[in-house]
Amino acid sequence: MRDVLRHHGSRRGTGYAAWTVVVEGTDVLLVDTGFPDDAEALVASVAAAGRSVADVVAVLVTHAHVDHVGGLAALPTHLPVLCSQGEAAHLRREFLEQVSPAAIAARLWRPRVARWAVGVLRAGGLRDVRDTRAVGVDTGERLDLPGRPVAVPTPGHTSGHVAWHFPDDGVVASGDALVTAHPTSRLTGPQLLEEMFHHDPEAAEASLAVFRSLDADRLFPGHGPPVRWPSAL
Ligand SMILES: [Zn+2]
Repeated sequence: MRDVLRHHGSRRGTGYAAWTVVVEGTDVLLVDTGFPDDAEALVASVAAAGRSVADVVAVLVTHAHVDHVGGLAALPTHLPVLCSQGEAAHLRREFLEQVSPAAIAARLWRPRVARWAVGVLRAGGLRDVRDTRAVGVDTGERLDLPGRPVAVPTPGHTSGHVAWHFPDDGVVASGDALVTAHPTSRLTGPQLLEEMFHHDPEAAEASLAVFRSLDADRLFPGHGPPVRWPSAL
């Protein structure tokens, strides 16, 4: 078990995104970083774990959307930012796989979508967060970082999306491949985001089989609270 392996976000910062803090000895590892306006809460979450931003040794990214990489700009520029090869190109904004403004506009009649859209605009949702630090790592291999994480390909939400598995702790940081709540959803508990959010909805559905195959006790999602590992997916 790590010294600290904690999920943050659902009640911190903007409340629209979540991230994970891993502490091992003096080293800190982050999984995702929230919206640009979550930066202060991100730094506070590292302090709450008894460390400082200077102790962060790397940032793992599930995917390159603004609500997951928005806090990178607040972190030291020398830090390695690790994701899949495909997602590194996405983070450099060589292409963009993201819900279109038109798809959102078509659903603004739904009160939950309208409230969420206003909230994410306020949280820095339109900020340019491209980052050239991103390095693609081999998936399926344990990395020599706090918690010895493994990148698990879970494509669909974006083509290069990965979940980060911490096998020794039984924790999976699932990003947006599997969430437990979202402001646009009435549902609570493990669920897929609605179709418009996925670059490839069929692939997103198929990635559920990947989660079923993982040995884990706890799910740390990209949106919503952490939960015990779901018995049914
Ligand atoms: Zn997200």
